[in-house]
Amino acid sequence: MRPESKPRSQVHELLIQKLRAMGDQAAKITVHGVLTNVEYLKVAVLDALDEVGARYLVHVRAVDTVVESSRVTGVVVGTKRGLMTIRAKVVVDCTGDADVAHYAGAETMMDPKELMPITLGLALTNIDSSKVQAEEILSTIQRGKTKYPLITSGFMEMLPIANSHSWWINHAGTSDLGRVDATDPVERTMAECWSRRQVLQMVQALRESDNPALNQIEWVAAGPQVGVRETRRVKGVYIITEQDALAGSWRAGFVDQGGIKGIENFRMKIHDVPYRALLPEKVDGLLVGGRCISTTHVAAGAGKAMGNCMATGHAAGVAAALSVRKGIMPRELKAGEIQARLRADGVDLEVKDRAQKNLRET
Ligand SMILES: Cc1cc2nc3c(=O)[nH]c(=O)nc-3n(C[C@H](O)[C@H](O)[C@H](O)COP(=O)(O)OP(=O)(O)OC[C@H]3O[C@@H](n4cnc5c(N)ncnc54)[C@H](O)[C@@H]3O)c2cc1C
Repeated sequence: MRPESKPRSQVHELLIQKLRAMGDQAAKITVHGVLTNVEYLKVAVLDALDEVGARYLVHVRAVDTVVESSRVTGVVVGTKRGLMTIRAKVVVDCTGDADVAHYAGAETMMDPKELMPITLGLALTNIDSSKVQAEEILSTIQRGKTKYPLITSGFMEMLPIANSHSWWINHAGTSDLGRVDATDPVERTMAECWSRRQVLQMVQALRESDNPALNQIEWVAAGPQVGVRETRRVKGVYIITEQDALAGSWRAGFVDQGGIKGIENFRMKIHDVPYRALLPEKVDGLLVGGRCISTTHVAAGAGKAMGNCMATGHAAGVAAALSVRKGIMPRELKAGEIQARLRADGVDLEVKDRAQKNLRET
């Protein structure tokens, strides 16, 4: 999230500034990472949006689009007052599932046999790290599988929530169920109900422990909805492949498939994301950012990393603004113009070339 303790862009730094202003309990900055308390993050995002004068609505859902001659000119959203149309010169789809692109008739890619697992993120508190280590918590949960069958047999890891006595758990979620398609309302509902019961079983396994440092642990939060790693991706003018994602030089992280493939072979390299991977192949007036950009299934493991989502969201926003200002379609923009604006925003676009040069020299 913040490689080598360097700002990744002014946009990201604005968010970090807002978090820091809230105190140590809001965020802990590590060498490469930013560990946040999500409740503070929710307010920090609003503060950052207000500072730059963005206008926004919360809790509205895109349900359709307005398309005129293959160009998206608006998004239909569901609100408490019913359906409402928001007109726009350019739309950026950051729904994670390429919902807007799908409604607009853009071609999307998803292999139902290859989907990464779904996981309900959960937060535990009352963890005294002077008395109990993360490994013990995780192994106690995993041993609980003999009594609690919903506990995953896949990977499980814990990360601290900023500077608190609470941790969140990331794990393989629905991987024992096979592939679950989160764009199917029936399968999504099943995954949500199953995952909430799964978390309950994980917590029960801890609370039944004889170790007082474990049986005091309490479940304080879970995601408002299940966390989805992969569904549709837009078919763009360019499709990022695993060869692209595994080129360059390694710094940190893995092209992670939600723990379902041997990640040691998938060391994430510093790689380029062509602008064409944010542009749907055919539909105009539309850009994509985040985990639904144009990639293959394996390369989506790289694209879905939060830092990468932030970078492509930033680039898509810049491209949308530039094309509106110039009165042209996003696909008519030159990549160089977007790069110039991103550099002005403090994005280091030369990092890959520098890393490769260093590698050659060492
Ligand atoms: C359990 C789990 C663990 C992970 N762990 C890591 C990790 O350790 N490191 C890492 O880098 N990445 C991790 N990831 C991946 C990463 O978190 C995601 O890929 C990334 O956050 C996706 O960002 P996004 O902005 O594309 O989509 P999202 O963060 O999913 O944002 C999409 C937003 O759009 C909204 N939305 C969706 N559909 C609609 C609609 N139709 N109308 C209106 N709004 C809509 C959603 O409610 C959501 O707010 C993990 C993912 C999961 C699920």
